[in-house]
Amino acid sequence: MRIVVDLNKCQGYAQCVPLAPQVLRLLGDEALTYDPNPDDEQRHRVLRAAAACPVQAILVETHTPDDAEPTT
Ligand code: SF4
Repeated sequence: MRIVVDLNKCQGYAQCVPLAPQVLRLLGDEALTYDPNPDDEQRHRVLRAAAACPVQAILVETHTPDDAEPTT
């Protein structure tokens, strides 16, 4: 999966950090740094962190291949 944090929106509130500490970290007082390609096992944590962000700065791209065959 891929994530993008809009650092222009991010206010450094850090609500997201404890929810996905392996993906989102604070450097210093309010500079957020993050892993843009977290493992899929981090998906739930990242989605919760994105939902917790008061300014919706965390954008989550879930991978949905166009050529995926429907399973019937
Ligand atoms: S919760 Fe949102 S505003 Fe706060 S540090 Fe995380 S991304 Fe930035």
